[in-house]
Amino acid sequence: MAQPIIDIQSITKRFGDLTVLDNLSFQVQPGEKLALIGPSGSGKTTILRILMTLETLTSGHILIEGEQLWHMEKGGELVDADEAHLHKMREKIGMVFQHFNLFPHKTVLENITLAPRLTLGVPAREAEQRAMELLDMVGLADKKDDKPASLSGGQKQRVAIARALALEPKIMLFDEVTSALDPELVDEVLSVMRQLGEETDMTMLLVTHEMGFARDFADRVLFFDHGHIIESGPPEQIFTNPEEERTQSFLRKVL
Ligand code: ADP
Repeated sequence: MAQPIIDIQSITKRFGDLTVLDNLSFQVQPGEKLALIGPSGSGKTTILRILMTLETLTSGHILIEGEQLWHMEKGGELVDADEAHLHKMREKIGMVFQHFNLFPHKTVLENITLAPRLTLGVPAREAEQRAMELLDMVGLADKKDDKPASLSGGQKQRVAIARALALEPKIMLFDEVTSALDPELVDEVLSVMRQLGEETDMTMLLVTHEMGFARDFADRVLFFDHGHIIESGPPEQIFTNPEEERTQSFLRKVL
């Protein structure tokens, strides 16, 4: 098998006395589409936030393309990563959040061009050209001069996806990106994700309550409970023939 693009090795995360991730390990192959499912509070979002370096790790190691995320070599020893190392590693990963997090006072186009210009130093015209391609892809080229407040939730989320893609990450993390949307707006966002999955070789990790989407989109499903991976496998197996009682009981409630 190829080198995993993400290699999570025995990670533990505590908030005070609360152990949210308990000595957890898994690997993700390049291009793989992984769905993280499980009850609320089981630690799914925390994993994405640790990968995005928005939360620190209590212990364990994470390798991205074979390189330590939270650690670095110094004088032959592994030490905590400094800000420069985290910054470099962060460029490999994009994240889309439940609540869009767009800049309210910027136009759609500016929302997308800002980070490439500021963090990657991409010239304005080039950043705009790329942003327009991405807006075309998400079907919102005609909204380029609008402010986020005038968009629907589904449109905001499509802009947020385009914004994350503008930094050309190798890995995209989707954290319950349809949970805050009215039901009639969910499909337009899922179809952008589906298109991304079909047209690119992007590695995608999604935390989702959309079991139908997880089932037909993901290559592999991980079922979480209380900071542990209880069961993992292809969607057909997890959704139709789960082995573990906890998975069965969760699916009975949500399907
Ligand atoms: P999930 O995504 O599976 O719903 P989360 O990863 O969001 O679960 O949360 C796991 C647990 O960690 C929950 O009990 C949550 O309350 C707790 N938690 C998450 N973030 C923090 C934080 N910043 N401080 C304290 N507790 C947190």
